[in-house]
Amino acid sequence: MPELIVSRKAVAPSPMVCMYCGAPATTAHEWREANRRPERGGGGGGDVVPVPGGDDPVSAVVGLLLFPLVLWELVKAIGAAVVAVARYFTRPATPPAPKPAPPKDPPTTRVVVTTCDRHRRFRARFVWAGAATAVALVALWAWAVVVTRRTMGTDDTGLAVTLILTAVLSTVLLPVAISFWYALAGPVIVDRVTESTVVLDRVRQAYFDATGQTPNVAA
Ligand SMILES: [Zn+2]
Repeated sequence: MPELIVSRKAVAPSPMVCMYCGAPATTAHEWREANRRPERGGGGGGDVVPVPGGDDPVSAVVGLLLFPLVLWELVKAIGAAVVAVARYFTRPATPPAPKPAPPKDPPTTRVVVTTCDRHRRFRARFVWAGAATAVALVALWAWAVVVTRRTMGTDDTGLAVTLILTAVLSTVLLPVAISFWYALAGPVIVDRVTESTVVLDRVRQAYFDATGQTPNVAA
């Protein structure tokens, strides 16, 4: 399913185009999605140069080549220390009080899902399908149990066996089918939230065709 990437810094109004069929939209459901803070920690240590420590010729050459570098790092460190000491002795008598940092709200992204009249309640069809399936399964099981009890002990058990098998298969397969339908043709959802974007999934190709935008094809 094509994805629509909404940038946090986007200021342009969302095009009023239905995200399901590409027709002019009549409804815009708008909300703000809190962006995720950047991950802290992890990584780091990128400035460590691995130096081979053997006593073979290659290591000797590497050591020879790195020696001026090490010397230069030492000079820089001493220079920084001297500057720091000098700053300490020449600092102003009353250092300015550090301003209390204002509590930062996590940044948010304005997300808009636009729909036409026909697709305004797109999500409802899945709720109805689920409810109808549940009712149908209960009715099927009830019928199967009634028929089984009526024909128990007789030779005429063909219908009962068929009903029980159908009920078992339906109980397994119908929820799976609805899940697949939802996953492949379900409503537009927020798929991922990053530091500066929100990624909407299942925005239909017709929307991109109508707005001239390029979808981000999910991996
Ligand atoms: Zn539509």
